[in-house]
Amino acid sequence: MAMLVRSVQSEVARAHRARRAPAQAGYYDRKMETLPRDKLAALQLRRLRAALENARDNVPLYGRRLRELGIEPGDVKRLEDVAALPFTIKADLRDHYPFGMFARPRAQLARLHGSSGTTGKPTVVGYTRRDIGTWAGLMARSLACAGVRPGDVVHNAYAYGLFTGGLGMHYGAERLGATVVPMSGGSTERQVALIRDFGARALCCTPSYALVIAEVAEREGVDLSASDLEIGLFGAEPWSEQMRAEIEERIGLKAMDNYGLSEILGPGVAVECGEQAGLHGWEDHFIFEVIDPDTGKPVPDGQQGELVITTLTKEALPMIRYRTRDVTRLITQRCACGRTHVRIGRITGRNDDMLIIRGVNVYPSQIEALLIGVPGTAPHYQLVLERKGSLDHLIVEVEAAGSESARPEAYVAIAERVRHQIKSMIGLSVDAVVKQPGELPRSPGKALRVRDLRGSAS
Ligand SMILES: [Zn+2]
Repeated sequence: MAMLVRSVQSEVARAHRARRAPAQAGYYDRKMETLPRDKLAALQLRRLRAALENARDNVPLYGRRLRELGIEPGDVKRLEDVAALPFTIKADLRDHYPFGMFARPRAQLARLHGSSGTTGKPTVVGYTRRDIGTWAGLMARSLACAGVRPGDVVHNAYAYGLFTGGLGMHYGAERLGATVVPMSGGSTERQVALIRDFGARALCCTPSYALVIAEVAEREGVDLSASDLEIGLFGAEPWSEQMRAEIEERIGLKAMDNYGLSEILGPGVAVECGEQAGLHGWEDHFIFEVIDPDTGKPVPDGQQGELVITTLTKEALPMIRYRTRDVTRLITQRCACGRTHVRIGRITGRNDDMLIIRGVNVYPSQIEALLIGVPGTAPHYQLVLERKGSLDHLIVEVEAAGSESARPEAYVAIAERVRHQIKSMIGLSVDAVVKQPGELPRSPGKALRVRDLRGSAS
């Protein structure tokens, strides 16, 4: 009965929100967001030449690479000529740690950010004061595109610190004219209370942390679907459509995907509009390409491959053809929202994250999508890789949920369902271990999805 009452309340709340929600998300910079394609291309070409000059004149690595290829910025006559330029890879940043890729003296930088990296040196990125302003503008544009409005309360649960997520969202939301709650990650009970008490309309965090918030709210008896929350901006890790549906259902909001990476900017590179059919990449500041990761050649229009991004306006850290390792495709058809900027398909995985197990290629997000469809499981999981003899072996650890979660004797049957689902959909034989609710680790930031034990002695 309590469940029924709650679900009716949720329905009422949803209907109430549907009346309040605008039909189309507002523009932050209407002129630029709807610029005709020919004008956009002319702007990109002009900015590309300037970006190449900045890179050639101020970054020794780029000066050398362009000289070796005999390319002058003025040689770039058409946008397609970008394909002749050299790639930049993550190792370039590591090799020139900490400041060797910067096009400005350290004293002219307003801020440094970095990624921890699982092994070796971190990746360091830098911004001039003007870069910070560009970033705030692009993030404000992204928030507006996702449906956030000036005057909204934005609950920002992305981590503040060296990671670009927290401060990137923060400056953008302020620029848009929203009221930011700078929560960072952790203290989830308090987050739930403040979302409710402060009347947050937008929630920003990783999708995996959104589920942690949902879980804690349910435990605390707080019905977030009856709160003022309407929009979530989730990113910084790949997530499946099934995960999106789960978050939307449990928190009662529209879950929007946003994309960015610190080497290029941080969040604010691309974002979904109300159509939720691909993420608009802001082409007045970036050139997006998709290449075959093996040959380095552009793939035919619309085909999947590795996303490559060139920055057009970054002063401190220009990036020419940066290989993101992210797998996606470009959608060049005009979007119904009116924006003219290209869309990138939702990132299904990162080349680096792809697991190859006994000849089968699999992304963690594929397994995530399957798990959400298995009755009796919660969307908290970890993939454990082991070596058995000479063969790689995958163990899927997932938590039990629902009525079966209180009966450990049912776990064997749930594990069997998981095994069967993965075998029949991906063709991979795995072991499944069902854990009690709350047994797997929760992360306030990016979730750790894979534990690779293959290197350790067994
Ligand atoms: Zn659109």
